[in-house]
Amino acid sequence: MAEVVDDGHDRQSNKDLRRLTPAFKFLRPYVRQVVFASIALVITAAATLSIGQGIRLVIDSGFASGEAGVLVDSLSLFAGFVLVLTVGTFVRFYFVSWVGERVSADIRQAVFTHLINIHPGFFERNAPSEIQSRITTDTTLLQTVIGSSVSIALRNFLMFVGGVTLMFITNVKLSLIVLISVPFVVMPIILFGRRVRRLSRTSQDRLADVGSYAGESLRHIKVVQAFNHQGADETAFHQRVDAAFKISVQRIRQRAVLVAIVMLLVFGAVATMLWVGGQDVLSGQTSAGELAAFIFYAFIVAGSVGAISEVISDLQRAAGATERLIELLESPSELVERDAAGGLAGQEVSLQLDQVGFSYPTRPEQKVIDTVSFSVQPGEMVALVGPSGAGKSTLFDLIQRFYDPTEGSLRMCGQDLRDLSLSAVRGAVGFVSQDPVLFAGTLKDNLVYANPDASEVEIERALQLAHAADFVDALSEGLSTRVGEDGVGLSGGQRQRLAIARALLSKPSILLLDEATSALDAESENHIRLSIDGLKGRMTIMVIAHRLSTVRQADRILVLDGGRVIGSGTHEELMSSSDLYARFAQMQFAA
Ligand code: ATP
Repeated sequence: MAEVVDDGHDRQSNKDLRRLTPAFKFLRPYVRQVVFASIALVITAAATLSIGQGIRLVIDSGFASGEAGVLVDSLSLFAGFVLVLTVGTFVRFYFVSWVGERVSADIRQAVFTHLINIHPGFFERNAPSEIQSRITTDTTLLQTVIGSSVSIALRNFLMFVGGVTLMFITNVKLSLIVLISVPFVVMPIILFGRRVRRLSRTSQDRLADVGSYAGESLRHIKVVQAFNHQGADETAFHQRVDAAFKISVQRIRQRAVLVAIVMLLVFGAVATMLWVGGQDVLSGQTSAGELAAFIFYAFIVAGSVGAISEVISDLQRAAGATERLIELLESPSELVERDAAGGLAGQEVSLQLDQVGFSYPTRPEQKVIDTVSFSVQPGEMVALVGPSGAGKSTLFDLIQRFYDPTEGSLRMCGQDLRDLSLSAVRGAVGFVSQDPVLFAGTLKDNLVYANPDASEVEIERALQLAHAADFVDALSEGLSTRVGEDGVGLSGGQRQRLAIARALLSKPSILLLDEATSALDAESENHIRLSIDGLKGRMTIMVIAHRLSTVRQADRILVLDGGRVIGSGTHEELMSSSDLYARFAQMQFAA
């Protein structure tokens, strides 16, 4: 819901800052930059504190002496401090931010690399949208922390310690007064600050509501307009916008109060110090320069307390973020590749299933595949038929080793899939899903998805075999035609033929084809039939068949029901030998 403006405010934090430690492991390659930044950090802190002494010198020696030369000397020293501070600040800011960006980029890459190879079942228990937000939002939180909050915290800690020390050195009496009044100043600021933060979180939520409502209505604009629902949508949207506005106003009010209080307290404190300190200056107990330096240090100390209290919550949020990212990085893939996992020799691949049983991890009690045994010879075409939910797609998933069977084994050329490398298994299989996914890009980008080095000739040949060449040629931009994220602008039949061509370009030994159930027009259907005819014998083909024409093309039909193979043979054989098939065929293929 919060995807629209998720800046990490909603993310759960963790009070235990030790959770941040694993993130610092990613700092190791950049020790050099960290050292530069640390040196600059210490120097700038020291230079900032020295400015107080500069102020004292300028006032006490420069002005008080009444000599222009001394004033120039004092000012030169002061300028020196400022110069060091300027250069140091540049170095610190540059390197700290650089390291923050670099580390969060590294973590993003590490998480993505880990996840893109993990077993697909992982995403059934972990919603991809949540993972996406971990990769973007949580790493951004870490980036802020490593790239600024940690440095702010360290710098302000140094300034606090240095500032307090110098305050006491400069004027003990005033320091004690300040120390006693600190809680009275800090408490209201923290209190209002918290309220403002809470309200800004709520305000983010409301804004996310606005965003997701607009997104949904606009995405489904045709449904909205078809039902004349614009009026109701406008009202609902206005309510959300108003709700967001009201929360914002509350936040602004609290913030305004906070700013006013800070002003009052700060100037009140300055006035008090000037009054008390002024008495001392008048009585000669202290110099004007010392008083000015003292006020400067008091500001530094107050500022550092404020800054640290600000970044503490950043650090806690980042601790939560680190915990979530590390959890992702450490979640193991359930598809274990043996160390000596091998490849497949040769292009011809046979398939054997032996007493295969399978339950999805999310529903272990339901046996989706139940003691299934069959084999497929190289070059054979086998059609899988069966009612919806029979387990046909699951069998395809097992053959591609997206899951391991809970019982029995699947073998390619006699080798257990678990003894082969995952890339060997996937390389041997070409898969065409029922509703093929085309990625955003041109038709050509999509075709060469698995084989970026495919030549023009190979592409042309694959298109011919898939009976896709004609419609691609008919497009004004041919292979350069852009297709949207879901291949918008192409019919279901065209998309499936493109997907066949894409699968062919990966030079598979086994083609797994999940025939489209949605009605294809007679011409598309005929094209796909011709395409299968052209492929028969060239490679092993398994097709989840929904049409009589496909079933008739197959060398053999396997009938699947409730996860079990209940019949095997040609259409004619099964019509006479299997009542279930006869009934199923009558219903399914009636048209
Ligand atoms: P259809 O032709 O409708 O696609 P199918 O024969 O291909 O059906 P499968 O998709 O293999 O059937 O599903 C077999 C059974 O497994 C169904 O009962 C389904 O609910 C269940 N199932 C499928 N995918 C999952 C999953 N990821 N987690 C849990 N159960 C699942």
